[in-house]
Amino acid sequence: MSKKRVVVIGGGAAGMVAAGRAAELGAQVLLLEKMQQPGNKILISGNSRCNLSNARGIEEFISMFGENGPFLYGAFHSFFRDDLLRLLDRYGVKTAQEADGRIFPASNSAADVVQALQRYMEEYGVEVITGSGVTAITAVNGCVEAVHTPDKFYPAAAVVLATGGASYPQTGSTGDGYSMAAKLGHNIVKIRPALVPLTLREKAAVKSLQGISLKGVRLTSYSCAAKEINADAAPAGDTGRGIHGRAARAPVIESRCGDIIFTGSGISGPTVLLMSLAVVDAMEHGPVSISIDLLPGQDGKQLQAALQEEFTHHGRRQISNIVRQFIPERMAGPLLETAKIMPEKAASQVSAAERSALAARLKSLTFNVSGSLPLAGAMVTAGGVSLQEIDPRTMQSRLVKGLYFCGEVMDIDADTGGYNLQAAFSTGRLAGESAAAAV
Ligand SMILES: Cc1cc2nc3c(=O)[nH]c(=O)nc-3n(C[C@H](O)[C@H](O)[C@H](O)COP(=O)(O)OP(=O)(O)OC[C@H]3O[C@@H](n4cnc5c(N)ncnc54)[C@H](O)[C@@H]3O)c2cc1C
Repeated sequence: MSKKRVVVIGGGAAGMVAAGRAAELGAQVLLLEKMQQPGNKILISGNSRCNLSNARGIEEFISMFGENGPFLYGAFHSFFRDDLLRLLDRYGVKTAQEADGRIFPASNSAADVVQALQRYMEEYGVEVITGSGVTAITAVNGCVEAVHTPDKFYPAAAVVLATGGASYPQTGSTGDGYSMAAKLGHNIVKIRPALVPLTLREKAAVKSLQGISLKGVRLTSYSCAAKEINADAAPAGDTGRGIHGRAARAPVIESRCGDIIFTGSGISGPTVLLMSLAVVDAMEHGPVSISIDLLPGQDGKQLQAALQEEFTHHGRRQISNIVRQFIPERMAGPLLETAKIMPEKAASQVSAAERSALAARLKSLTFNVSGSLPLAGAMVTAGGVSLQEIDPRTMQSRLVKGLYFCGEVMDIDADTGGYNLQAAFSTGRLAGESAAAAV
């Protein structure tokens, strides 16, 4: 067996590109994948359509990764979106950009992306062994020496660790890379679920709202209990990751306008997923609550006036019928209940105090957050191998010579929009290139 070999551990987005690139540059490459086939997570990405990148520029990409974003400058500058699209095109995958900038295969089939990457590896002679779960990497005198499975070991001059995160473990990403890296001396930044639905304490109220989806509402999270929320503290614009997002001022954690959906145990939907990591992290320090502004287009005064006008003109109608004009029909009953107003009450009978309680609920429907779905149900894993110990110009470990990292196993995670996969492809390519150059 050749000692000059590059061994790639994990056949996900990052590992396949790393293996293909190292082989393209002339290295002898072996890829070990624990599952029976590579690319399982790509197959389920973007609802099996695979949102593989985004039309935004590098600066915006970087901002989507929060404070760890700048680590990715080197990888993005060496292999970015257009390079990825060219690579996929080379293996027969045309891509299409949607109005919001997200990029998918034109066939809308994630399987085409996996096949293209397999063809890339095949063309340059990568040896792929599936059903082969790596248990350890050994190093001698600070240099990688071999990769071990339960019944074999593979001598290696360079090792690329591309085992992904620990979410959706049924895809094969069970977090093995963290312990392998830790055994070689690497620090692992605490792993947490990101892009994950949140659970709420008010179980009965949430159950009554299950299945209701809300469009264009403002969701604000606070680092305090729901009863302490001061809705006036909610910022007018969005805060959080992204080039247009600003930092929020405590006790506000984040505020975003968009779509949400009530689940059996809490809330989900694009806006919730984007805010979830900040909420999960804030829960380490104390209670967290959320407020939903159901009508962000009107301020409190305008809303009170609009309600007053409706009540005056339709005094004999039941209040629940009037409220239904403002929010989804199924939501009227539960909302009136929280405002302690009988849904059958005639509009003319509603007192001024009740009207302002109703307006207040419409502007700020509050819940206490109990947590999130577990890591297994998160789209990405936050945390991972500390970036302090990885050279961003090569992806090589600063602790062990010949060891390279790429993809989600590192402490990087981004918002939805194709950023996570592009980061996996870009860091995979750089790791493969550096590993080939080293051997
Ligand atoms: C439901 C869902 C939808 C998503 N949609 C999108 C999207 O549309 N756009 C986007 O940008 N991102 C999306 N993501 C995130 C994105 O898929 C990941 O960030 C990306 O796939 C990470 O790539 P990776 O190569 O680092 O890891 P993975 O794709 O997780 O690959 C790791 C590989 O390593 C293998 N492995 C693990 N341990 C071992 C071991 N011990 N030995 C050998 N092999 C091992 C695994 O089996 C796996 O094949 C989504 C994630 C989920 C869960």
